[in-house]
Parts: sequence; structure tokens; C-alpha cells
Amino acid sequence: MNETVGRFAPSPSGPVHLGNIACCLLAYLSARHQGGRFLLRIEDLDYRRCPVPNGEAVIRDLRRLGFDWDEEPLWQSRRNAVYQKALEKLRDHLYPCFCTRAELLASQAPNLGDTQTVYPGTCRNLSPEEIKARSLTRSPATRLRVPDLEISFTDGLQGPVTENLHEACGDFIVRRSDGLWGYQLAVVVDDAASGVTEVVRGRDILSATPRQIYLCRLLRFPVPRYVHIPLLLDPYGRRLAKRDRDLGLDQLLTRFTPEQLLGFLACAYHLIEKPEAVSLPELVEQFDWSRVPRGDVSLPEGIFEGL
Ligand code: GLU
Repeated sequence: MNETVGRFAPSPSGPVHLGNIACCLLAYLSARHQGGRFLLRIEDLDYRRCPVPNGEAVIRDLRRLGFDWDEEPLWQSRRNAVYQKALEKLRDHLYPCFCTRAELLASQAPNLGDTQTVYPGTCRNLSPEEIKARSLTRSPATRLRVPDLEISFTDGLQGPVTENLHEACGDFIVRRSDGLWGYQLAVVVDDAASGVTEVVRGRDILSATPRQIYLCRLLRFPVPRYVHIPLLLDPYGRRLAKRDRDLGLDQLLTRFTPEQLLGFLACAYHLIEKPEAVSLPELVEQFDWSRVPRGDVSLPEGIFEGL
């Protein structure tokens, strides 16, 4: 069997929070427990929201907690040429889209909420003349045409997932009108380039996975195994917010050792019974996915000790 290659791929739009660290922890433990390799990728495609110092801070913080990885971290902002090449491979499936965000929202069915829009296909069949005329006043985004196709996969924690791309999202963006690369494209290209075999990440990204699998198929990339982990909540069952300064890493490391922090996270995800200090090698040794619940988990109350 091939060696497991796991990875952690944070978007450094701010300081790392415990939710990110939990994701890194589970991805790391799973890869290392299988004797596999572990990689770090800084997802700074949107370099204005994710400036370089933020990425550097993430790397520093992960090191402070004892994490290690097997290659130099990959920075997405430096990989234009690679994404460009993938775009060329997809050429026959792409078309320019001139819709504005406001137009898209206006055409959206009201029951979908604002988290995911289904693209109505407005620009799908523009003639070459129309494209030329519209390009004079607006630079287009690039969309990938999706067929009426069901994509199925089995998530390592969430179980079987089936989605019809056409109904769930419609044709999706692979390059934005401002030139930034679409997240789906970059993730798939980078995971394949690094030989990633196991993707462990937050359950909030589960809904993007069928699109990524479809891209893998078109680009003839192997599809990795996916494990979408539950969201980490505070001890009172609330979502962790970036503004919650008491749970920021700098604050926490003034009150706890890295091993104590790992203990809180490992306990939240049911890997150990009590929130006691524990080392990464100990956690690697005893790691077992079957203990990790599917639904949201909460930090132990001890995390607020010493405030
Ligand atoms: N960069 C994404 C995030 O921080 C994660 C992407 C992934 O793991 O595929 O939410």
C-alpha cells in the first residue's frame, strides 16, 4: 500500500485559533500514526487578506506547539504558474462569466440561505461576439461547466456523501474576475502536486468536496481520502470566535504549556479521557479515528483556568 501523506492547509487571514490547531492536530496524528508523511501548506491565495507575516506567524505558532512537517511549507501565493497550467488543461470546460455578485444574489432562490449560491448559468452560452463586447467593460471570472452528475464519496468520519453538482452549486468559479485563483482549483492542484493521500479538515468544508472530486477527475488526479472533522466549540457549546482573545494562542501559552493545550484539544475530540498534559508522540501512538465523534465537540472548562 502507498504511504500516507497528510497535510494541514490553513488560510492565514488572522492568528491561528484553537479550531485551526485542532484540525492540524488530527491531520498530524492520523498521518503520523500510520507512519506517513505530513505537510504544511499556507493557503494565502488571497494575499491581501492573508499577508506573508500572517503565514509566518502560523508556522511559528505550530512549531511552538511541537508540530513538524517533512518539506518546506508550500505558499499558494507563489504558485501562479502551476495553477495556470491546470487551467489550460481544463480549457474545454471553461467559460468567462461577467455576472456581478449583486446580480447573482438577485437571481438566487430565497431558500438557499447566503452560504451557497447555485449559479443559474447566465453566461454559459454567450456568443463570441457577446463575450468580446462585454470584455470591453468588465474583466470576467472563469467558470467551470458542471454536468448533471452525482458525485459520491465516503468520508472517513461523516460516512457516505452524494451530491449533484448541478443542483448543489452549478458551474463554479476557478478564477475570480480580479485574477485570484479559486480555492477549489488551488486545493486540488496542490494536493495532487504534493502527493497528498489523506485530507483531514473541518466539517465546514464538506460541501466543497464534491466539486474538488470533480476537478480531480477532469485533471486526472487521484482522489485523496477525506475526513471532515467536527467543529470545535467553547466549553459552553458556542462557536469559537476570533474575537475571543482569552482563547488566542498567545494568551493560552501564558497560562498553559503546549502539552496542556494539546491535552485540552485531545480531550475535546475524545482521544483522551481527561484534559491532562500529553505529548504529541504519546497521542500519535494511541491515535484512533473510531474515538472521534462526528458531531460538534466542546473544549473542557479547564481552558478558562487561571484567567
Ligand atoms: N484553507 C482552508 C481553511 O483554512 C482549508 C483548506 C483545506 O484543508 O482543504 O479553511
